[in-house]
Amino acid sequence: MANLRRDGLHKLTTRLAAMYGTVVVEDLNVTGMLANRKLARHIADAGFAEIRRQLAYKTGWNGGRLLVADRWYPSSKTCSGCGAVRTKLALSEREYQCEACGLIMDRDRNASLNLAALAAELNTAGSGPVAARGADRKTRVRGRVALKREPGTASAGQTGTVPPQGGTADHVLAKAH
Ligand SMILES: [Zn+2]
Repeated sequence: MANLRRDGLHKLTTRLAAMYGTVVVEDLNVTGMLANRKLARHIADAGFAEIRRQLAYKTGWNGGRLLVADRWYPSSKTCSGCGAVRTKLALSEREYQCEACGLIMDRDRNASLNLAALAAELNTAGSGPVAARGADRKTRVRGRVALKREPGTASAGQTGTVPPQGGTADHVLAKAH
């Protein structure tokens, strides 16, 4: 089982790093989530930390980059259509419904679009060595949002797309349910 799992994680991260120039993950509060007994087993099973570790060096091999969204960035609670942020969103709500603009969308797809937009904002913030240095620090985008480049990844300025869905630990978790 351990070998199958290891093989599966490697295949996933190899494919993501080969297909996309930019991969975005969320810096999850794993310790806090492990305190929730219902979530704990799924999180341990999903191997979030290992996925992130592999993506960091594999995106580097492919000349891409791994971006890490701050753990406080409300990727699930934000409307990808109008930017409104919901104050509450239960884990059981699999469909995002925006009270401001009426958008209804799969929860994971909505969160993925928000993370993709976050990466795009970082790309348009500048290019070249100056932007690359700036991106190594925590870069504030959209209020409290912070996005940083994972140390050890390749040069910035590469453009690419984010997987339309299933690309973040949040979504791996969602699919485990
Ligand atoms: Zn909206």
